[in-house]
Amino acid sequence: MSAADSGGRQLEVGILGATGMVGQQFVRLLEGHPWFKTAWLGASERSEGRSYREAMKWRLSTPPPESVVGMGVDACTPGRAPKLLFSALDAGAAKDIEPAFAAVGHVVVSNARSFRMFADVPLVIPEVNPDHLTLIARQRRERGWTGAIVTNPNCSTVVLTVVLAALRKFGISRVMVTTLQAVSGAGYPGVASLDILGNVVPAISGEEEKMESETQKILGTLERENVTPHSMIVSATTTRVPVIDGHTESVSIELEQRPSLEAVRAALESFRGRPQELRLPSAPPAPIAYMEAPDRPQPRLDVERGNGMTVSVGRIRPCSILGTKLVALGHNTVRGAAGAAILNAEMMVAEGMLD
Ligand code: NAP
Repeated sequence: MSAADSGGRQLEVGILGATGMVGQQFVRLLEGHPWFKTAWLGASERSEGRSYREAMKWRLSTPPPESVVGMGVDACTPGRAPKLLFSALDAGAAKDIEPAFAAVGHVVVSNARSFRMFADVPLVIPEVNPDHLTLIARQRRERGWTGAIVTNPNCSTVVLTVVLAALRKFGISRVMVTTLQAVSGAGYPGVASLDILGNVVPAISGEEEKMESETQKILGTLERENVTPHSMIVSATTTRVPVIDGHTESVSIELEQRPSLEAVRAALESFRGRPQELRLPSAPPAPIAYMEAPDRPQPRLDVERGNGMTVSVGRIRPCSILGTKLVALGHNTVRGAAGAAILNAEMMVAEGMLD
């Protein structure tokens, strides 16, 4: 489907957790979207019954859309919400709320970690494993749901996995990654200023495990409604740094075919997926941009590339331990959260999965 063949009609969508950091990115990215129109907002009891303007503390540098600020915020209970819902809920809340909606026919496209690793739940980056969306059939059959839960990965996993997907043709055996993650990744108010200003916090709870297991699932093979995780070993160290938006990652990769650095660069630059073929509205022209300059990518200069959907890569060089190393950067609340979910939903629309 394209905007042209939808006849200009927009599908009404709702946002669970609309008041949070990621919820606000949904509101921003959906404003003017050619296929989707924000028609419903949900959040916690604290926000229920208030207007969106009153309920949230807007944290983005562009003003909140006028079409949304006057809307009322509902409780996250099924009833008035449209069929397609984006979820930016806290994982604790998502655990009960998302299944309640999916059970009664809503398609919940979620950022929360709660269901990502379940065998019947698609964990999808549309450029990498759009075929995993077919797990929905198993999910509906086994759980008796008329709706579904579809997830996108953790924000640091997306950046790494897009890079690895471009290189998987060389055979990936081992990966070491160290992240420098932005404070917006911790939601609002997130990390206390006295903890992060002029500092680096060398641990983010649960993040390393997520990077390791989610990457293997996304790059895994789907056969008979079952995903066999990729056999590569991933070792992650995750840190929080005083950057507002943009997760930077230092990645070392062992590639079985030992390609030249030129071949690695060519593979990254030429990488394309279904979203590019289908020209989905949120798809960047190319998922990865290679940056020649020795001091790039940098969050402040490069995070908004491709409206926040491009993964920027630079500093491809030999690694004396694993063979190849590079630096990658992606926007954590766009490519790593709201933009990722919107691209998943666009993919589902384009493949006729929301008819
Ligand atoms: P956040 O700023 O803390 O926002 C959380 C949202 O969940 C708010 O809208 C909040 O509503 C709502 N909520 C909390 N408890 C609720 C409850 N019991 N019932 C209904 N709604 C409830 O968090 P965030 O950073 O936007 O993250 C949202 C989700 O995305 C999390 O699961 C996170 O792990 C994931 N994620 C975040 C990032 C990132 O870079 N920030 C990236 C990838 C994935 P109130 O305002 O009413 O409290």
